[in-house]
Amino acid sequence: MEHTKFLRQAIELALANTDESGAQPFGSVIVRDGEVIATGVNEIAAHNDPTAHAEIQAIRKACEKLEQPELSGCVLYASSRPCPLCVEAIGWANLDAVYYAASFEEAGEAGFEPSADWQRPFERIDMNGMQLEPFRKWDAVKN
Ligand SMILES: [Zn+2]
Repeated sequence: MEHTKFLRQAIELALANTDESGAQPFGSVIVRDGEVIATGVNEIAAHNDPTAHAEIQAIRKACEKLEQPELSGCVLYASSRPCPLCVEAIGWANLDAVYYAASFEEAGEAGFEPSADWQRPFERIDMNGMQLEPFRKWDAVKN
């Protein structure tokens, strides 16, 4: 079956990415019409980039390859269930479907929580209308 073939590839990428460098055990594959168009692995440590999750890296590569900012018609395979950050990116990329292997519980047993406690100040500040200027400019330049 196609799904297990691509999930096996995502898991193999996760395995190959896992070493003493701190690279984390996650891999992802993006497929269009039965063909792999991009792959990604967790590169947080390699790039000092907290958003460099395997799914995000695969999305970036697929968009670059297709020279477009969205991936409708494509399917994503992930070695583990995508975290909330990746779920949002999958939505922005407009991927058709997602298939994953390891559950949150299985990843959690290895020490990977889908989302930690992100409580911190997060508040809107009133800027007396200045905050609308970028939207007004956007309106003006797009027409
Ligand atoms: Zn993620």
